[in-house]
Amino acid sequence: MTFEALGLNTSIIKALTDAGYTAPTPVQQQAIPAAIAGKDLLVSSQTGSGKTAAFMLPSLHRLFAIEPAPAGKTPNQEMQAARARNERPRFKAAQPKMLVLTPTRELALQVTTNTDKYSVNLRRIKAVSILGGMPYPKQMQLLAKNPEILVATPGRLIDHMESGKIDFSQLEILVLDEADRMLDMGFIDDIEKIVAATPDNRQTMLFSATLDGVVGNMARRITKDPQVIQIMSAANKHENITQRVHFVDDLSHKNRLLDHLLRDESLDQAVVFTATKRDADTIADRLNIAGFSAAALHGDMHQGARNRTLDSLRRGSVKILIATDVAARGIDVPTITHVFNYDLPKFPEDYVHRIGRTGRAGRNGHAISLVNHAEGMNVKRIERFTKQLIPVNVVEGYEPKKTGSAPRSSARPGGWKPGDNRGGAKPGQRSFSKPGSSSGAPRREGSSTGGGYKGSNPRSADGQRRSYGDR
Ligand code: ADP
Ligand code: MG
Repeated sequence: MTFEALGLNTSIIKALTDAGYTAPTPVQQQAIPAAIAGKDLLVSSQTGSGKTAAFMLPSLHRLFAIEPAPAGKTPNQEMQAARARNERPRFKAAQPKMLVLTPTRELALQVTTNTDKYSVNLRRIKAVSILGGMPYPKQMQLLAKNPEILVATPGRLIDHMESGKIDFSQLEILVLDEADRMLDMGFIDDIEKIVAATPDNRQTMLFSATLDGVVGNMARRITKDPQVIQIMSAANKHENITQRVHFVDDLSHKNRLLDHLLRDESLDQAVVFTATKRDADTIADRLNIAGFSAAALHGDMHQGARNRTLDSLRRGSVKILIATDVAARGIDVPTITHVFNYDLPKFPEDYVHRIGRTGRAGRNGHAISLVNHAEGMNVKRIERFTKQLIPVNVVEGYEPKKTGSAPRSSARPGGWKPGDNRGGAKPGQRSFSKPGSSSGAPRREGSSTGGGYKGSNPRSADGQRRSYGDR
């Protein structure tokens, strides 16, 4: 399957080739032709599966195919002309053709950056992001360019809409990216208002981790006869990410183990997730003292500081990012090889989002959770949600004292049966309960190296890797 076969124009394909995209991802294969045909879309597929291009490429294709606006003046030119006539320039509302709503500023910027990349050869088309925290004159300046594509977080956009700076009457394409997150963040009223301000005959594309519940209701309200695309791929199960759990006795054990694991040779860059902003700061300080180049990222930081930190991460001058869930949402840095859960997330969904910060763009990644003995139940909840078992590991010299404490033998997420155990532990594997211990109940390591694993994943064992059957 090629991008040509999906019907995209050659200027876009050239840009994709230059960006190193050789073939469309599964979600792109399905979404692009339907979107070019003008269909509404409801799409759920896992983080990192290439959804941005799935909506942006067909949109660019369509916007480029539309007749260029009659050679009138841009709002900027009109204002200059007015000034030349010694009139007070009147601000003319921007009239975007496409609007992308995202839950966070970081995501909006990411979408704009990708759009610039995809549209390098489409001179006519401009994309700008309108974000909270951006100085007002700067926003006015961006809007005055009358960009075809606007990428925005809902709150800030409402302000501009209500003060007449943006007019959606010419809008052709509306995209809701990470719709579930936007609803979680309480943007539902803003979204409804924005949608109501757009023409009924627009094309609507909604992307979400799930299409059930509240999101599903809204999705169906704002789309017409949508094509539903749900990709349950290997990426959806994060099969390119090796997951494991390490049990720890206490904080000092956790910190020592983290330091040790951060020195792993295969680690290029890492994100360490903490439950609180305060912990993020404390751990960043501690790691810096220990000689790591670490930085914290959380919601209490000013936007400027957050951007600088993310830039340093992208440039590689920050190696370890200590982050909270919200701040790290959507981070897309392909050189992140490891994700650590210093604390387990509250919701299993967040676990999936967190570990999706590694294994980007088809690479392999490691997701390592440091878990107190009392948190065994939370690990089980995650296993049930992901329908994957997470192997328990022990590192020599960092063994937890309370080995037998959290019998997790009953972790048996969907489909897994004791009989699936067709392999034994590999030599060199370490496990929470020693291989060979015969407790009667199926122990976790008993299900390792599942004969059914059809990993497309040639990563060689680090002596700890264990894969599970194709569940
Ligand atoms: P999602 O929104 O589904 O989480 P993104 O759109 O952020 O995923 O894409 C994840 C990463 O994959 C990005 O780095 C993006 O540049 C890259 N990517 C997307 N599509 C392709 C492709 N067809 N080939 C190679 N890389 C791709
Ligand atoms: Mg995305």
